[in-house]
Formats: sequence, structure tokens, C-alpha cells
Amino acid sequence: MVIGGYSLDLYCDFPDEAYKHRGSPGYPGDGVGDFAAESGPVARSLARRAGWKIERGGRRALCPMCQRLGRVLPVINH
Ligand SMILES: [Zn+2]
Repeated sequence: MVIGGYSLDLYCDFPDEAYKHRGSPGYPGDGVGDFAAESGPVARSLARRAGWKIERGGRRALCPMCQRLGRVLPVINH
């Protein structure tokens, strides 16, 4: 048996100290997402369709709630 697939776990990267919306294992919050698909690109497009914003390069994510609130991820200075 071959069990294939790809699981994409998303945790919102918005630094929200006032309202911990990222949840925890077992108690997912608004800022936690889990998308399963046959490949990474498909999983990411499912997540985008659900309202997640995934940065180009795939390193950070912004959850649908933050998107609705008009939040943007802080710029990273390298
Ligand atoms: Zn968020």
C-alpha cells in the first residue's frame, strides 16, 4: 500500500500578542490551518482559496481572520 499526499500545516505569522489566535495543538484557533492534497502546490492553492495568504517563497502565512482585519505581515529586514 502506498499512502501518498501532502499535508500543509499553516500557522499565522502575524505577531498578535493581544489575541492569541494561533491556537495550540488540540485547540486550533483562527490562525491555524491544515490542508491535505496530492501535492504541495495543490495544498497551497486550497489554502489560498480558503482565505490564507502565503508569502512568495512560502516562508510565512497570514490567516483569513487577519486578512479580513486588513492586517499585513511586517516587513522583514535582512
Ligand atoms: Zn492571523
